[in-house]
Amino acid sequence: MNQAKPQRLKIGNGTISGYISIFLSILALVSILCFIFPEKLTTPEFREIYTAASMQTLIKVVIVAAFFFSLLSLILSKKIQLAAIGAGIAGVAILLGAFSVQGSNVQKSDWYFGLDWMLLDLLLMTVIFIPIELFLPKNTNQTKFHEEWRTDLVYFVISHLFIQFFGIITQKPAIVFFSWIGLDGIHTWVQNLPFIAALFLAFFTTDLFQYWAHRIFHNHVYLWRFHSVHHSTQHMDWLAGSRTHFIDIFFTRAMTFIPLYVLGFSHAVFNTYIIFIAIHAVLIHANTRINFGFLKYIFTTPQYHHWHHCEDPKHYGKNFASIFPFIDMIFGTYYLPGKVWPEGTGVHEAQYPKGFIKQSIYPFTKSPFDTDLKMEERSDR
Ligand SMILES: [Zn+2]
Ligand SMILES: [Zn+2]
Repeated sequence: MNQAKPQRLKIGNGTISGYISIFLSILALVSILCFIFPEKLTTPEFREIYTAASMQTLIKVVIVAAFFFSLLSLILSKKIQLAAIGAGIAGVAILLGAFSVQGSNVQKSDWYFGLDWMLLDLLLMTVIFIPIELFLPKNTNQTKFHEEWRTDLVYFVISHLFIQFFGIITQKPAIVFFSWIGLDGIHTWVQNLPFIAALFLAFFTTDLFQYWAHRIFHNHVYLWRFHSVHHSTQHMDWLAGSRTHFIDIFFTRAMTFIPLYVLGFSHAVFNTYIIFIAIHAVLIHANTRINFGFLKYIFTTPQYHHWHHCEDPKHYGKNFASIFPFIDMIFGTYYLPGKVWPEGTGVHEAQYPKGFIKQSIYPFTKSPFDTDLKMEERSDR
């Protein structure tokens, strides 16, 4: 398969610090928009959690960090280019009011984009995963700058900005099919469970629904077209998990929302579940050799999920669970050969479409009965 060699970054020569400076300064610059248009660019649920004052402080910290990394890049590289871009954008952010932005009374809006959610999640994920991938990588030849990182970033941005749209459509099926049943008794029983028992129930039931939604996407010829987008990455990293077709997101999330809706967990359980899933779903795609010791038998790990993405048809149809490996054991799809990792990841298909737009259209463009994917391989999935 034709594959451009990923560009390698060397630690300590000022390039990484230069890019970090640019990245942080862009985050600070874009975040000012949230203060200018809060009704349209921030998420009501998150506004209840954070305050304008805490976000002002965060922006200041990000700008100071951008200047710090700019200086570090200058000292390490003795070149001015990356350092100047980072410091320049941070300077523009200050001129546009990054240090003086004020929170305002936010009116309720019928529609909004989740720009605040996108920026906060991007900052959190980069703080957690970039050091892990830099210092404990699985594939040492791979950096963020492989040929398709921009595509994966577009998926990340779109899935976060359209949080309202995805939220509404993924909750709809559960509400339509189950709201007429009296669920109050179940909710009371679930909310009276000990915290750990309720959390396990949330993980287990959602993973069970996720398992079968996921497996159906692999087994059905036409649905595989949508899910193959997620599998098309040849460079597993923390951003790669974002590459998911919107039909795949809708169907899988709608399925996993059913047990959450029917069982009606407490806020504490629900929020813990969401935070765990948000970080764990990114972790299992990350380019890291961390193996998590005995925990790898309890929770799915990067090694576990990388096998699910294995390019070799011999290993298709394994490790569908996203949280608990024992669910794969129950249904006969568990595969974790010691400390061995798959050699390559991706779909066994030459010429897979590249880029967000082409990949979004691709599943709709061909008949479900065409034969460009080998049937015998598909039936193994
Ligand atoms: Zn899959
Ligand atoms: Zn995956």
